[in-house]
Amino acid sequence: MITWEQLQTSTEEHPVSGNAGGDLVAMTLSEQSTESVVEAADAVLFANYRRAPLAFSHGQGCRLWDLEGRSYLDFVGGVAVSSLGHAHPALVKAISEQAGRYLHVSNLYQLPEQVQAARLLADASGLPRVFFCNSGAEANEAALKLARRYAYDNGRGPKVLTADNSFHGRTMGALAATGNPDYHEGFQPLPRGFGSLPYNDLDAWEPHLRTDVCAVLVEPVQGEGGVIPGDPHFLFQLRQLCRERGILFMLDEVQTGVGRCGVMLAGGHLEPDVVTLAKGLGGGVPVGAVLARDEVAAVLKPGMHGCTFGGNALSCAAVCAVLPEVEALLPSVKRLGERLMAGLRRLEKVEQVRGQGLLIGADLTVDAKEVELACRERGLLVNPVRPRTLRLAPPLVVTAQEVDLALDILKEVL
Ligand SMILES: *Cc1c(COP(=O)(O)O)cnc(C)c1O
Repeated sequence: MITWEQLQTSTEEHPVSGNAGGDLVAMTLSEQSTESVVEAADAVLFANYRRAPLAFSHGQGCRLWDLEGRSYLDFVGGVAVSSLGHAHPALVKAISEQAGRYLHVSNLYQLPEQVQAARLLADASGLPRVFFCNSGAEANEAALKLARRYAYDNGRGPKVLTADNSFHGRTMGALAATGNPDYHEGFQPLPRGFGSLPYNDLDAWEPHLRTDVCAVLVEPVQGEGGVIPGDPHFLFQLRQLCRERGILFMLDEVQTGVGRCGVMLAGGHLEPDVVTLAKGLGGGVPVGAVLARDEVAAVLKPGMHGCTFGGNALSCAAVCAVLPEVEALLPSVKRLGERLMAGLRRLEKVEQVRGQGLLIGADLTVDAKEVELACRERGLLVNPVRPRTLRLAPPLVVTAQEVDLALDILKEVL
C-alpha cells in the first residue's frame, strides 16, 4: 500500500491510472471505522443533514456493505437515484471509458454525448427539446425561467401555480414553488409570483387558472410529501384546463421519472409541455434535465440561461448508459412494485400502502424512525419520509427474492 506522502512525491506522470484511484479510496476507507467517520463529519461538515451513523465501502446491485463488512439490502436507492443499483457493469463501463477520454469541455463546444443523451430522452418522452443541468432544483429553476420567459413573450402574467404539500427543491425559485411553508421558514424574501393550491382538488384550481398565470407545476406522485399519487382524473382535468387557457402544464418528474413508476414518465400520457428530471437519470451521476415542446423551448435564446457543468460528457455518458437499461427494466418495475405493495398490505401495523412502480409509501400505526432503525439492525435500509410513513424506492434492478427478503425483515420488525 502506498502512503499519501509517497503519492504526492510520485514521479509517475499519471499516478492515478488503471484502478489506482479505486484502490486509494478503498485504502483510505479501510483505515477508518464508521465511528471515526461520524466523529470527523461532526467536526468538518455543515450540520444540515440528519445522517445515520452508517458508512459504506461498496455495493453491488441492491446490496451495500458498510465499513465493518456488514451487508444491507438497499430499499432507499439513494432517495430514488440509484436506478441501476450499485456498480452496474454498463454504467461503470460507460463512465470509466468516458473519464478516460475527457470529462468536460463546456457548452462553448459541440458535445456528441449530450446530443446522444438528448436523443434518447426525446425518443423516450415524446418531448423533442432537452436542456441539461445537474440536479432537480436546477431543472425546476430552468423550467420556471422558461415559463416566465414564455409568458413575457406571449403577453401573459408571470404567476406559477403549484400544489400544496409539493416539493420542488431548495434553491430560491424552486423553494418559492414548493407548496410547503415548513421549507420556507426563515428564508424570506422568496421570489414572488407563486401560489399553491390543494393537490387532487380540481375545484380549488379552476377559478385560479386565469391570464395572470403562465404555468402550473405539479408532481405526478408527490414524493417528499409522503408518496401521494396524483388522482388521474385531477391531473387529466388540470391538463385540459391548462390547454384551453394557454397555461403551460409542467410536470416535476425529478423523482417519478426515468422508470421509477414503471413507465418512462409517470405523467407522459398527459402530454405535458415541460418535464423536469434528475434523480434516477444518471443512476447516481449528478444530472438533471428539462424536456420541452419545440415552441416552448424556443423562447430561450443564447445567453438567457445556461449551466456550466450541464450536460457534460461524463453525466451524458451516464444518461446514455442508464436509459436503455431502464427501458428494459420497466416490466419488472411494474411487476415487483405490485409484489412489494401487495406484501406490505399483508403486514401488521401497516395502515395504507400507496405508490406506483417502485416508488412506494407505507403509512404505519407506529413511529417510522423506530422501524427504520430496527430494519437497519436487520440489514434493510428504508426511508422514513414522514413521521409515520416509510418510503421504499429500491434500485429498479431489484429482484423478486430481494423484495421478499425485504418483506420478511419488515414483517419481523413490525
Ligand atoms: C428531489 C426532488 C427535487 C430536488 O432535487 P435536487 O436534486 O435535490 O435539487 C425536486 N423535485 C422533486 C419532485 C424531487 O423529488
